[in-house]
Amino acid sequence: MNHYDTIIIGGGHNGLICATYLAKKGQKVLVLEASTELGGLAATREFSPGFNASVAHTLSHFSAKVAKDLNLAAYGFDFNAAPMTNIALNSDGEHVIVEGWGASSKLSGVSDKDKESYREYHQLLKRFADLLKPFWLKTMPRIGHSSLKESLTYAHLGLKMRMLGKHDMGEFMRVATLPARDLMDENFDNKQLKALLSWDGLIGSKMAPRSPNATILSLLYRMSGKYEGAHALPKGGIESLINALKSAAITAGVEIRTGAKVKKISIKADENGLRSEGVELQSGEQLLSNNVASAVDPKRTFLDMVGAENLEIDFTHRINRLRCEGYVAKLHLALSDLPKFTGLDSLDGRMVIAEEMDSIEFAFDDAKYGEASQKPVMEIVIPSLADSSLAPKGQHVLSAHVMYVPYKHKNGWTEEAKAELYERVIDTLASYAPDIREKIIAGEILTPLDLEQQYHVTGGHWHHGELSISQMLMMRPTYEAAQYNTPIPGLYLCGAGSHPGGGLMGGPGHNAANEILKAKQ
Ligand SMILES: Cc1cc2nc3c(=O)[nH]c(=O)nc-3n(C[C@H](O)[C@H](O)[C@H](O)COP(=O)(O)OP(=O)(O)OC[C@H]3O[C@@H](n4cnc5c(N)ncnc54)[C@H](O)[C@@H]3O)c2cc1C
Repeated sequence: MNHYDTIIIGGGHNGLICATYLAKKGQKVLVLEASTELGGLAATREFSPGFNASVAHTLSHFSAKVAKDLNLAAYGFDFNAAPMTNIALNSDGEHVIVEGWGASSKLSGVSDKDKESYREYHQLLKRFADLLKPFWLKTMPRIGHSSLKESLTYAHLGLKMRMLGKHDMGEFMRVATLPARDLMDENFDNKQLKALLSWDGLIGSKMAPRSPNATILSLLYRMSGKYEGAHALPKGGIESLINALKSAAITAGVEIRTGAKVKKISIKADENGLRSEGVELQSGEQLLSNNVASAVDPKRTFLDMVGAENLEIDFTHRINRLRCEGYVAKLHLALSDLPKFTGLDSLDGRMVIAEEMDSIEFAFDDAKYGEASQKPVMEIVIPSLADSSLAPKGQHVLSAHVMYVPYKHKNGWTEEAKAELYERVIDTLASYAPDIREKIIAGEILTPLDLEQQYHVTGGHWHHGELSISQMLMMRPTYEAAQYNTPIPGLYLCGAGSHPGGGLMGGPGHNAANEILKAKQ
């Protein structure tokens, strides 16, 4: 029987990144992916004959270090793709547009005062994002028994904060947990601009503008990317990233098996205690390895694949209590032609339907009580403009992240409930693109429950677990598993449920590989 140094469960981007780093250091690595395609939530799939889309549709903070270390450019990934224009849509065509990136972005549709405030706001947030950036690619110190090296991470963070200077340090402490609404109200007058700028702190989370918690930290996390928070769609689309990661993995010697669902992680018990020794596939096949690294969400990893019988009761309770119910649904439309959005000449930007922060807040209120929003808010891109192979010639794909759609519908996600949601979302779109209905050839809406079932992610959650203060940094996913190793020796976590979190970023895969290699020495 083949014996591997490390078996990685899950061939999403984090699993592939972790695998490649390990293989480049000489490890014999096997990636096991349950689906027939690699990429996880970023996999491109045909949702209607000839029309393809991926659930994740843009990049905002993919790690430059990972792209460089794995030489992804050599495999066709364009890390330097131009940033997309951000557009806060208005049904009368009076859009607010943020073009370019960083403090030099060009704003239109807002007052000169807001333009000036934007520059100051962006510079301040960029300083905060720069402060946190190095820590996204570092293992967080352990609570309680941190080694000297781990304690230095605290010292490093403290020093970086001190170096901000008295004013900025105070502002950082004040702003970090502020509700997005307060920060926007402090800085801007224009309602659309406020909704647009708060969006990236909220998307993927169970938070709305009035929620205190981690919206600003989420915003800063996304601002760690090349374009300081602006999104990009590389030539060849998201598929070009997954294809590049696959090629880099294969070149490094990683063995990859798709359609290989892991049923359980094999745990052996001897006089030294428990240790993982490989995995058992759904087919019954057993595979042996020194280490297992799971890019599957923490709940599935521990409760389904390890089993409560192998874990301490307190730890099991904490995993059980992880907050990981998704609130984002995904809309894919196959279009015969580009729709006409009122007052918009070009559709190659990232368009947000949320005319003010209260639109987002009210949409959240419905979902809190188990209903899909009566007036959904959403982010729209037309990915076929960056990758024409996604649709037949001359035709297009529209991709939208729709908030807020609860994982648990109070009456269950029946076909009728889904059809009603789909119609409501199309009606909302039609207020901005009146001809959309006549262009639709086919469409699908995936609720968080659908995402859970089709993509094997508990709760269909964007980050595999809420990116809230209780589940961040040295608490992600929970203490005793926040340094990628787990209470089971030889078992590691390497997916979005670990620090620094989800989104197409690569941090968990990168950091977990470091820990696995360290343990080997
Ligand atoms: C609706 C939605 C929209 C999003 N849009 C964006 C976006 O535009 N931009 C962005 O940056 N991020 C986006 N995200 C977030 C991003 O897609 C995820 O955070 C990211 O894909 C997580 O990567 P991962 O590799 O950790 O896990 P995943 O991509 O979830 O991969 C995990 C893999 O493990 C596999 N697996 C699970 N169980 C098993 C098993 N038992 N055996 C074998 N394999 C198994 C799964 O099939 C999957 O392939 C979005 C998420 C959602 C839900």
